[in-house]
Amino acid sequence: MTGASGPKPLSVTETPIPGLLVCELPVMSDNRGWFKENWQREKMVALGLPDFNPVQNNVSFNTKKGATRGIHAEPWDKYVSVASGRIFGAWVDLREGRTFGRTFFTELDPSRAVYVPRGVGNAFQTLEDSTAYTYLVNDHWSAEAQSQYVFLNLADETAGIPWPLDLAGAEISAKDRVHPRLSDVPPMPPRRTLVLGANGQLGKALRKALAGRTDVEFAGRGELDLSDPSALAQVDWKNYSTVINAAAYTAVDDAEGSGRADAWQVNGAAVAELARLAQEHHLTLVHVSTDYVFDGARAGHPEDEPFAPLGVYGQTKAAGDLAVATVPRHYILRTSWVIGEGHNFVRTMAALAERGVSPSVVDDQIGRLTFAEDLAGAIVHLLDAGAPYGTYNVSNEGPSMAWADVAREVFVLLGKPGDRVTGVSTAEYFAGRSAAPRPLNSVLDLDKLRATGFTPPPAQERLAAYVAGLADRERAE
Ligand code: NDP
Repeated sequence: MTGASGPKPLSVTETPIPGLLVCELPVMSDNRGWFKENWQREKMVALGLPDFNPVQNNVSFNTKKGATRGIHAEPWDKYVSVASGRIFGAWVDLREGRTFGRTFFTELDPSRAVYVPRGVGNAFQTLEDSTAYTYLVNDHWSAEAQSQYVFLNLADETAGIPWPLDLAGAEISAKDRVHPRLSDVPPMPPRRTLVLGANGQLGKALRKALAGRTDVEFAGRGELDLSDPSALAQVDWKNYSTVINAAAYTAVDDAEGSGRADAWQVNGAAVAELARLAQEHHLTLVHVSTDYVFDGARAGHPEDEPFAPLGVYGQTKAAGDLAVATVPRHYILRTSWVIGEGHNFVRTMAALAERGVSPSVVDDQIGRLTFAEDLAGAIVHLLDAGAPYGTYNVSNEGPSMAWADVAREVFVLLGKPGDRVTGVSTAEYFAGRSAAPRPLNSVLDLDKLRATGFTPPPAQERLAAYVAGLADRERAE
């Protein structure tokens, strides 16, 4: 443990099992005995150990050399070390996926620990009498949790663990003797992803983007109503690793009056509760924000522009953003002018064009469209790429446009004269009507998103395809 030149330095190294890490621990010895920092969050996280938030510490004392335990894959992460004595440790990946069955073995003494991710089978054999084996876990043990354990037989031929002491003579519990062989082991499924608001424009696009993913669940308002303060408490969050919140109160004008309380509940209070749950259960929380958190006084909003919402909707969304930003693993995608399946500006203009109406459309609100499929694509990209957590602006690329320009383009794409659309100022358009104030400039700076390797297609390209597909969509809905 302590060589002639002092203790070895703290290090964290990878193994052939993804996420299984070996930690070399400095142990300081003198005439009295030894001392080590067994787990030191700050230093270890800096070296690559996950910040795994342990909540329980267990110790198993093994009287005799040859005591053998395992192979157990548990539904939480654990950090295993030895307080005295020595073990031969063996790990078998029992998670669903292509590394199922992969093995790793090493000896642990007080100077070496192992981080075992959820679903990796853990086993050991003591190499000395009086071995104290200790581990930190990031969930409390319960009988219900134990029902999710996955077990593998210690003698499994495929794993082929080279036990130093023959299993025939080892001290093994009756239960551990009868666990199944690898071919009969049901792999531990991954934690799941939950999409909330799955029937909105973005929700529907996420259903398409994540189609075929057996680890993803979709919940619309019918399954989980965010206006019910108790709804989130009914979800068993232990089964999830990621929540994508595509739900929102989006009736911007109603939020100024009759919908104010609902808007605050769904966009503020429920999101704050989601953020709290994400912290408690170490979830990645993906949330969607809006250009309405800004006053629109400047062009090309950067992600970190200070909030200055003009109306209630923007205020409630800003409140949600502030809560989500406290979650260690969060992505906030700030977007503008979303067009997907459902009621939206482009569909309204297309309907007016077809009905022969010549509308007045505001020409002093400038922004860029965001097609829901590209917003969904950006979410999947950030998650899959493991992009740094934080806030990302997302809209389609291309020149900024006024709503009136978009309307004219829709008319032209439908073979109608663009000059049937008359531009009016926002002030004129809303004169005498009760409406929420809107930011005049909604253009979002996309550099941060591009730097992650995701470049959304130009809005004009998407608009042409969308308008061409409207007739088919109308038939399908
Ligand atoms: P939609 O209005 O199409 O979808 C919102 C979804 O949230 C709906 O399916 C709605 O359910 C659901 N919802 C509303 N209230 C509740 C509730 N109490 N419990 C559960 N679900 C609820 O919006 P988008 O898909 O366009 O918006 C996605 C995100 O993008 C939102 O965060 C929004 O704020 C943001 N955004 C949208 C913009 C836009 O132009 N649309 C612009 C900028 C940002 P139901 O179908 O039952 O009503």
